[in-house]
Amino acid sequence: MYDVAVVRYERPLESLREAVELAGGLESISRDSKVFIKPNFCQWYEGVSFPKYGVLTTARLIEDMVLLLKERDVTDITLVEGVVEIERKPESMLQKVARGMGLDILANRYGMKMIDVLRSPSARVTAGGVTISVNRDVLQADHLINMPVLKTHSQTVVSLGLKNLKGLLSIPSRKKCHSINPHTDLTYHLAKLLDFFSPSLTIMDGIYTLERGPLITGRAYRSNIIIASKDPYSADKVGTTLLGIGPDTVPHLTLAATNLGRTPDLSDINIRGGIDVRTALKPHLWEFEQNESGDLPMYFERAGVRGLTYPQADTTMCTYCADFIYYVIWGVLMAENRDKPFDDIEVLHGKALDPSGIHKHTLLVGQCQVKRNSKNPLINHCVNINGCPPSREGLLEAYAELGIDLPHDFLERMRTSSETYMKRYAGNPEFDESFYKIQ
Ligand code: SF4
Repeated sequence: MYDVAVVRYERPLESLREAVELAGGLESISRDSKVFIKPNFCQWYEGVSFPKYGVLTTARLIEDMVLLLKERDVTDITLVEGVVEIERKPESMLQKVARGMGLDILANRYGMKMIDVLRSPSARVTAGGVTISVNRDVLQADHLINMPVLKTHSQTVVSLGLKNLKGLLSIPSRKKCHSINPHTDLTYHLAKLLDFFSPSLTIMDGIYTLERGPLITGRAYRSNIIIASKDPYSADKVGTTLLGIGPDTVPHLTLAATNLGRTPDLSDINIRGGIDVRTALKPHLWEFEQNESGDLPMYFERAGVRGLTYPQADTTMCTYCADFIYYVIWGVLMAENRDKPFDDIEVLHGKALDPSGIHKHTLLVGQCQVKRNSKNPLINHCVNINGCPPSREGLLEAYAELGIDLPHDFLERMRTSSETYMKRYAGNPEFDESFYKIQ
């Protein structure tokens, strides 16, 4: 049986201490251990406010974890993360996150180091027939403490411990995970990640949880839950159950069960802490709903969008396109002629979608789509947004060609669009920004 602790978050340090002790403690970590902490910093908006609730690991739990390690006199502590940056600038995105959340204070206060996966050497590693490039330093760690957020994910159903490990991969390897080949697709790669990494401890941050994640477009809840386990797969099964989803319905968890010779249900788990994981939280949705005919997301239908076909994102859409797609969506929602039907436009994204042959215009988003379909004879009028990442200027040109009238300051408005999502939580005392700032 595998122990998984589930406790209520009530107060700094002590709640995490309770969870860690119920999960078996930190005895295996000695003062000489080299310890890496992997949080989940999947997105950051510099210079504007945005909801971090359920999107990012809280600064509160990261500091509490560091404090527990310092109590054991551990001195070699490193935070490791790779935050995707669309445009490479001198200051890395992780440095911006560190400044924004005050993690650099942890560096000064406790000597914690920071390693940016995307700006540090990688090493090629092979396991179970898969070769990927991963951060080289993390391979030297004695202990990896994985600190994901308790959230659902619109492509992978949940994004918990296994999914968080993907952030240790180089960008080319992350892209490889989103393969179009069903035998080596994202499910396959996520289920394989435990062949490469063996976290000593998983701490799942459920102070805020997120439905329809993983990014700010999801809806956060104040849930006050911490999950802790020395067994990463068990932590994910319990986290999934807390979100109201059967682990046996999550493709990468069922495949991982097969790989590990385990069961995808909770029958091999001893839940400690006295919380009923099946009823403690409200069920969290993971998919964005489509309309009845399945050709348009409900957020477009409710906004009165007509003359557009926009399929669900599948697992072949990888990091850059997943970020860029908000420009595509917001472009439609902000269009000055949105009150009239668009001119029968179909949008194709990711690596697997193909044109239906029945629309007047087809917009191909990203170089994978351009490569796959720009010469497809089923397309009547093809409009491309080239690049990986796809180019914002390319989007302006493409929308002009398609007759979608963007406001003249569209890109500037996009820079501050994250603030729109803050309104959901404004004035609600449960949503407290101080969880995301080291004091
Ligand atoms: S174009 Fe998009 S889907 Fe293709 S590799 Fe780049 S990010 Fe991934």
